[in-house]
Amino acid sequence: MNGGMMDESALVMESRFVDDGIARLVLEAPGIAAECRPGQFAMLEPSPGAFPVTRRPLTFSGCDRSAGTVSFLFDVVGKGTSLLSEASPGDRIRLLGPLGRGYDITPGRWLLIAGGMGAAGFPFLLSRTGGGLVLAGMRSSRGIGCLPAGSRLATEDGSAGVRGLVTDLLVDIDWDAFDSVAVCGPAPMMKAVVLAAPRSAAHRIQVSMESGMGCGWGVCGGCPVPSSGGGYLSCCRDGPVFRADCIDWERV
Ligand SMILES: Cc1cc2nc3c(=O)[nH]c(=O)nc-3n(C[C@H](O)[C@H](O)[C@H](O)COP(=O)(O)OP(=O)(O)OC[C@H]3O[C@@H](n4cnc5c(N)ncnc54)[C@H](O)[C@@H]3O)c2cc1C
Repeated sequence: MNGGMMDESALVMESRFVDDGIARLVLEAPGIAAECRPGQFAMLEPSPGAFPVTRRPLTFSGCDRSAGTVSFLFDVVGKGTSLLSEASPGDRIRLLGPLGRGYDITPGRWLLIAGGMGAAGFPFLLSRTGGGLVLAGMRSSRGIGCLPAGSRLATEDGSAGVRGLVTDLLVDIDWDAFDSVAVCGPAPMMKAVVLAAPRSAAHRIQVSMESGMGCGWGVCGGCPVPSSGGGYLSCCRDGPVFRADCIDWERV
């Protein structure tokens, strides 16, 4: 196995929809729970021996080491996530992880910026940073119940919080007041956030990229991320969390 990753047959402890098309899974996987860190992910097998064949990547949303459980929060967008959402307590799901490089967690004030289900990993991150200010941009009020309490919100349809995009929430932000910034969401949203930040803040921003990927551990080469040094980085092995200034945003 690669860099401490494990392939566990995890017992489904909880499986339910928390909002329209948003599912939560809690899996008993003691080996992975003991090792995983915020920003890392696992590859979950939707259905043994059936289509889709490849596992699906999901970020750890939470981890309870003493209970030996990890949790996931995900949008049901296709066959794989649909099958995962249909699991019942008592079923088993194969789980490969922990994978990738997570957030570099240093003490200080944290600003967390999410687009849509990019917020899925923030509860786990907040549990390790000891708190932080969360800004979230959503299409509508769907999914706002999944956000950490106290999040500042923008919705595109104006149904909750400020009408607009998450970047509209940045106008009041004093970037110098934060030691670390975590950004997760669709690539265009992360690019807009990084471009809105002052250049001096770039080395304090960590972005979690969600490129589609096949294997999750650097073998298939299916998840290239353009590097600011030229060439490409691998999302699954070099990331998915990168320092913002390591990425060539022009080519994203
Ligand atoms: C490291 C990593 C962590 C992730 N963590 C989460 C998470 O915590 N919660 C969550 O909801 N999703 C997360 N995703 C995205 C999730 O993996 C995909 O939504 C899932 O693989 C789709 O599988 P599917 O079989 O249901 O859909 P598919 O049939 O494979 O695809 C359905 C639709 O979704 C689109 N899609 C597939 N993968 C992605 C992607 N990575 N980004 C954008 N669009 C995509 C496809 O283009 C297609 O339009 C993560 C992705 C990565 C790479």
